[in-house]
Amino acid sequence: MQLKGKTAVVTGSTSGIGLGIAHALAEAGANVVMNGLGDEKDNAEPIRAVAAHGTRVAFHDADMLRHNQIADMVAAAERNFGRLDILVNNAGIQHVSPVEEFPIEKWDAVIAINLSAPFHAIRAAVPGMKARRHGRIINICSAHSLTASPNKSAYIAAKHGLAGLTKTVALELAEHGVTSNAISPGFVWTPLVERQIPDLARTQGISEAEAREQILSRQPTREFVTVEQVGALAAFLASDAAASITGANYSIDGGWTAQ
Ligand code: NAD
Repeated sequence: MQLKGKTAVVTGSTSGIGLGIAHALAEAGANVVMNGLGDEKDNAEPIRAVAAHGTRVAFHDADMLRHNQIADMVAAAERNFGRLDILVNNAGIQHVSPVEEFPIEKWDAVIAINLSAPFHAIRAAVPGMKARRHGRIINICSAHSLTASPNKSAYIAAKHGLAGLTKTVALELAEHGVTSNAISPGFVWTPLVERQIPDLARTQGISEAEAREQILSRQPTREFVTVEQVGALAAFLASDAAASITGANYSIDGGWTAQ
């Protein structure tokens, strides 16, 4: 129970990678504030599943498009649990389109949720972490924070930006007991990836089975990363053993970015 007594906020934790991280942190003993689209009732099943680890679990419905709601989520965590030790900025969306056809409102939403929301959450969480001289900021980036692919201009711009934000925050907080690191997964089988299959098939004129193969062809292991593997890495970065790791961007991508 290496995280016993700690409190975590995990954005976008009602599904996919965020849910995997919420499970891993709760399993390690942390209380967890979960977040995602919809209300508590809509998300009853994942909340119940994380609470089954036996720590305190709460839900906050902050919309990552609204900076005041993000600040309120951080304040509520500190108020209700007395502290916020671990902030995992995970919520993210994708949109696939050639740059000249990229819908402007989709560009704005991808940048807002994948890049600006982590800034707003960090901005709100840092004063308390600094005062307590302890904090772990973990930003879920992507192999696309290190490399590019066609038709994902907004996502790749946002993830490269988030990798830069991670490093800047690490330097600013290095003497305050607060670390800031990124995790950059390759393809993880989650609803976000599942939704890309029909788009890819359509834009490339291939079948959905071929689209799935094409996605995995980027990953030398030819296997999807699992949410449990990402959760385990997040739990390690949140632990005391990772106190000297800051400003790092951990690839967990089956060798994709080694190529
Ligand atoms: P997902 O679609 O399964 O889950 C996204 C989560 O974000 C959900 O809980 C959803 O409710 C929440 N969310 C979306 N919009 C929101 C909003 N406006 N306000 C609050 N919550 C919102 O996605 P995932 O695949 O688990 O991705 C999670 C993160 O991991 C994202 O940042 C994504 O870019 C990153 N990532 C995913 C992969 C992958 O292969 N799945 C690879 C690299 C990085």
